[in-house]
Amino acid sequence: MKRILLIGTGGTIASEMTVGGLAPELTTEQLLAHIPAIREICRVECVQLLNLDSTSITPQHWLMMARCIQERYDLYDGFVITHGTDTMAYTAAALSYLIQGSPKPIILTGAQKPIGFDSTDSKDNLTDAFRCAAEDLPGVSIVFNHQVILGTRARKTRTKSFQAFSSINFPQLGVLRDGVLLRYIRQECASRPVFYDRLDSRVALMKLVPGADRAQADFLLERSDALIVESFGVGGVPEEGGFYECLRHWMAEGRIVVLTTQVPSEGSDLEVYHVGRGLKNDLGVLEAYDMTTEAVVAKLMWILGQTREREAVERMFYTPVARDILWPAEC
Ligand code: ASP
Repeated sequence: MKRILLIGTGGTIASEMTVGGLAPELTTEQLLAHIPAIREICRVECVQLLNLDSTSITPQHWLMMARCIQERYDLYDGFVITHGTDTMAYTAAALSYLIQGSPKPIILTGAQKPIGFDSTDSKDNLTDAFRCAAEDLPGVSIVFNHQVILGTRARKTRTKSFQAFSSINFPQLGVLRDGVLLRYIRQECASRPVFYDRLDSRVALMKLVPGADRAQADFLLERSDALIVESFGVGGVPEEGGFYECLRHWMAEGRIVVLTTQVPSEGSDLEVYHVGRGLKNDLGVLEAYDMTTEAVVAKLMWILGQTREREAVERMFYTPVARDILWPAEC
């Protein structure tokens, strides 16, 4: 029987109603006590790493999760991390950069309703997660509502329904039907994972609104090493408002700027419009193409944890990791 490590970090799945609202209270052992049938799937051991609402998860916690797995990697066949849904997509992306090429499954799951509630998705999600962790499913993925989503491609797209996550610009890896994993895509892996232990959390995100001027971008760029600008459509910045000069100034100061889009699907293409092309060709901003914003945030933190050298940053940014970016590198 496969040996799986359950790593508890909190979230709704482990929450109970308190006077102040739902808060994570249950331990990993208490979670497991709700689903004794898991003993028929695998042998489980537990680590209670954190017990937080995932709103409070930070890059330091991502490093703790990666270290926890690294220290125990040879002892287990797979890993299940229970986590709040709100920032699970960021954590899944971050772990995809911190633990690359893992031949063993690293599965994140959680729930929209606590495990102690009468109507809950917790038991299905946790059981599916253990089923997947006991399969040959390499790399980091989210298992939720019977879907398997690649860690670099997940986004929380619903706040309340059980169908909380979508796979963005990439097919699901598989689905679970009546407890059986039907696999559509097998993620590549190496014979051993490569672990990383540094992140630079000075990465900021700015969503453009019509009429925005450069003041917010100046504020963020002064305090950050990289700024992601979520612009409109396939991408660009307003011609009025001083953005162009702002970005030119801060890039000359060594800041990294990445343009992405607010539109949920299909990604950026800065070459199309005048408002975007100059950013790329004259200023040299990077663009996210089909990456999720969650993956861009985590990838920049991972890259800047290793280098500030502009050419190296650009090369690493466009080099696919766990299929986070398909274009332009693979087209
Ligand atoms: N606020 C919760 C969290 O992210 C929501 C959830 O787990 O569904 O921890």
